[in-house]
Amino acid sequence: MRLSSYFMPVLKETPAEAQIVSHRLMLRACLVRQQGAGIYAWLPLGLRVLRKIEQIVREEQNRAGAIEVLMPTIQSAELWRESGRYDAYGPEMLRIKDRHDRDMLFGPTNEEMITTIFRDCVKSYRDLPRNLYHIQWKFRDEVRPRFGVMRGREFLMKDAYSFDLNAEGAHASYNAMFVAYLRTFARLGLVAVPVRAPTGPIGGDLSHEFQILAETGESELFYDAALESISREDLLEATTDSPAVTKLLSLYAMESEQHDAATCTVPKDQLRQKRGIEVGHIFYFGTKYTKAMGCTVSGPDGSQVYPEMGSYGIGVSRLVGAIIEASHDDAGIIWPEAVAPFRVGLINLRADDAKCAAAADDLYEKLNNAGIEVLYDDRDERGGAKFATMDLIGLPWQITVGPKGVEKGVVEMKARSDSVKEEMTVAAALNKLMGI
Ligand code: ATP
Ligand code: MG
Repeated sequence: MRLSSYFMPVLKETPAEAQIVSHRLMLRACLVRQQGAGIYAWLPLGLRVLRKIEQIVREEQNRAGAIEVLMPTIQSAELWRESGRYDAYGPEMLRIKDRHDRDMLFGPTNEEMITTIFRDCVKSYRDLPRNLYHIQWKFRDEVRPRFGVMRGREFLMKDAYSFDLNAEGAHASYNAMFVAYLRTFARLGLVAVPVRAPTGPIGGDLSHEFQILAETGESELFYDAALESISREDLLEATTDSPAVTKLLSLYAMESEQHDAATCTVPKDQLRQKRGIEVGHIFYFGTKYTKAMGCTVSGPDGSQVYPEMGSYGIGVSRLVGAIIEASHDDAGIIWPEAVAPFRVGLINLRADDAKCAAAADDLYEKLNNAGIEVLYDDRDERGGAKFATMDLIGLPWQITVGPKGVEKGVVEMKARSDSVKEEMTVAAALNKLMGI
């Protein structure tokens, strides 16, 4: 992509309304524009990141055996009256009426809808277990939308729903999602700490939240310091019996409301207290919805059985902010390779120098031909401004083509993560990128 014909209107000034660094950087780099309280338009650069996160989430759901569907954003109130949640949900639900004066709502979650789909389509235990997921926009009329996309009102969520014949099966489905989450977050460049969670209004008996440690997080956590020794690399290839997963499950981690200093067995000097950003949440809640909504299958002995359910959410749009909270410096964002909007930022230092421009154009074509995603700053601008913009938008690699280098037959390659610069030939730069 040539920057001269792209849509990336970066801001010079730091927006005054943004309280935390990820929100400031998302606005400055023009990833999103606010359209109302907690409602954002995704601009090209931000959308590319959102789509990459979504795709990694999808791949790990598929790997764990979940099957993708797509349910609508608008739901009928009738569905929610069946489960009894229409009145219980409260003011977070955006209620609407259609032209026939029927009560509708913008879905804050999909337990009811998936349960009726299952009820109407699945008749026999032979069709269990199944886990169905979708990646769809939700609306929750949050009391305090804030921190940009981290606590929005309209936000993108992956939600999965498992159906099993019995509690044992449901626990296996839960564990498969637990591992899928660790892998997903590791692929996104994060270490997510699974925290035992209260089961809350949704009910049930088993639940974990996945938290990214960050000072700006809204949750307060207490955990065993040994958690900090678990690395991302250990989790990239996690399976249910990986040592890192077993260790994570055995270590103490609680939200502050759940933590009780009197009964906590972690020695005082081993106990850490930090803030976290909740990026995922998994629940096992049994037959709560299948019973309320009359969803049964015929069991092996012919009797009617209520399937055991779990639900599993990931905050896809919240993750864009969470990743920036975890990975930035004073100059801007530092995207992990897996979610960067482009892998390479190519800078032509002198657009007015024909030789230099020709060399940069040539490298741009080579990168495109090699299938390497590149954003090419071909504008007639000062070098300093170009470097600042590239640092702000945080692409993992910067390649600079300048007149002196062109004479010597070299370009300068910089890694955004450690700012290490290296001079090399075009061929060496291409090899380096293709080898990573
Ligand atoms: P929170 O405690 O942050 O309100 P929640 O418990 O209401 O989260 P869930 O219903 O479990 O969230 O939703 C699953 C995931 O969706 C959460 O783990 C979070 O990552 C994301 N999420 C929830 N609410 C929002 C929001 N208002 N804006 C962005 N993402 C959200
Ligand atoms: Mg909430």
